Amino acid sequence: MKVRIGIEGFAIDSAHYTLSSPGNAQLHGHTYVISVEIEGQVDPSSGFVMDFEILRKTVSEVVKEWDHKLIVPAKDIDKIRVEAPFQMEIKKINAPFATAEYIGTEIAKEVYQRLGNKYKVNIKIYEGKDSYAEIDYP
Ligand SMILES: [Zn+2]
Repeated sequence: MKVRIGIEGFAIDSAHYTLSSPGNAQLHGHTYVISVEIEGQVDPSSGFVMDFEILRKTVSEVVKEWDHKLIVPAKDIDKIRVEAPFQMEIKKINAPFATAEYIGTEIAKEVYQRLGNKYKVNIKIYEGKDSYAEIDYP
């Protein structure tokens, strides 16, 4: 019997641009709210698919890497030059665009790998209040 368990309400604040959309070529930011779900078998010795605290810790570590960063597609990394009196940390995304679709996919992939490639991962990532991408990985 397969069971899905999940945790809602992870959040990151990140900056991005999406040159694929003329209105979004301007650098801007979002609060991304993320929920995660994994699917697996219930372990008869514990009654859990996975202890929620292990899932929470894993996802927190993964999403933290995207928080307060400028998310830049790998192809653009060498084109970014900023001289400013503030800090700016770049998070490279191995995808053509830093869209919610690809950010969510990268997060899902990282969670999947950190959990030993054993559980199907579902990520729902909200970009703002009412727009989201939902990813099943793999
Ligand atoms: Zn945006």
